[in-house]
Amino acid sequence: MKKYNFSPGPGILPQSVIEEAAKNVLDFNGSSLSILEVSHRGKDFIAVAAEAEQLVREIGGIDDRYAVLFLGGGASSQFAMAPMNLLADGEKAAYVDTGTWANKAIKEAKLFGNVEVLASSKDSNYSFIPKGYEIPSDAAYLHLTSNNTIFGTQLHEFPQSPVPIVCDMSSDMFSRPFDIEQFGLIYAGAQKNIGPAGVTLVIVRKDLIGRSGRKLPSMFDYRNHADNDSMYNTPPVLPIYVMMLTLRWLKANGGLTGIQKMNEEKAAILYDEIDANPLFTGTAAKEDRSLMNVCFLPTKPELDEEFQKMVKAAGVDNIKGHRSVGGYRASIYNAMPKEGVQVLVDVMREFAKQNG
Ligand SMILES: *Cc1c(COP(=O)(O)O)cnc(C)c1O
Repeated sequence: MKKYNFSPGPGILPQSVIEEAAKNVLDFNGSSLSILEVSHRGKDFIAVAAEAEQLVREIGGIDDRYAVLFLGGGASSQFAMAPMNLLADGEKAAYVDTGTWANKAIKEAKLFGNVEVLASSKDSNYSFIPKGYEIPSDAAYLHLTSNNTIFGTQLHEFPQSPVPIVCDMSSDMFSRPFDIEQFGLIYAGAQKNIGPAGVTLVIVRKDLIGRSGRKLPSMFDYRNHADNDSMYNTPPVLPIYVMMLTLRWLKANGGLTGIQKMNEEKAAILYDEIDANPLFTGTAAKEDRSLMNVCFLPTKPELDEEFQKMVKAAGVDNIKGHRSVGGYRASIYNAMPKEGVQVLVDVMREFAKQNG
């Protein structure tokens, strides 16, 4: 049975990428070796890593002033690595509290310097993105979370900032165009939108590397990774390979402007249904709704079991909401086809017809 994977992460990947990866697990580039067993220093894999970097630069418009790194440790390691590398002792960094992941980033930053939380939407269970706060010009950087995976909110416009923006883009990386000039550091765990779990994409402005002046263990110092083309140690070979395939797919699908158009169409189909269907209600403020993670609640929770059954029978997988929001969350990352969203919407309609 055909299944549509609405999981928040690891999330859906293009079918063509999965098939190509499977082939190369058996026979990498016709070498009679598996991608799982080749040396990261061999010429075939060096070409993969170089193409992955080149695609990141081409798709994102990232020039040479920035280093592009492929690291282990997940986005969660970047919560600490960013302040370790960019925030000096006694200095302050500005953070905006938009949910669970922002909070984890704040907690780690406090280990390395002072944190000023400029704004928070905690009191409304993170149902909106705070705006209009003042950004202190003496902060080392401003940290933002571009898309709040759990609460289904997204920054549709980045603030003008007098200090470099450090952005956790884990769950909407490469889902829309952005202007790299606004950012000092971007990080994204690949498993939400650009690849499988195991690799984290880091894009850092080279002049910010070493900014904290702190002595760091080698593995936590961006400098070492930048100076060694992300091969200071053994990099996550298979995840980098699959990310490279996913970026090829993204390029072939029109790059960031092409994918943005598709993402807007998909999200509109689903939000229109949520707004029209009496059995569902959206949780996020309309102007801050995420195009990636669509959160909605049932208006008749007693019918949940029946809805879950119908959804499952249609091949819709993994739309259970996070416990801190409840209800449902449909993650419709880049690789989710419009047809998958339509299948979900059709079930919602049928459900309303039967129970209206
Ligand atoms: C999933 C997620 C993380 C954590 O990523 P890991 O790679 O599991 O450490 C961080 N930030 C956001 C916005 C996320 O969605």
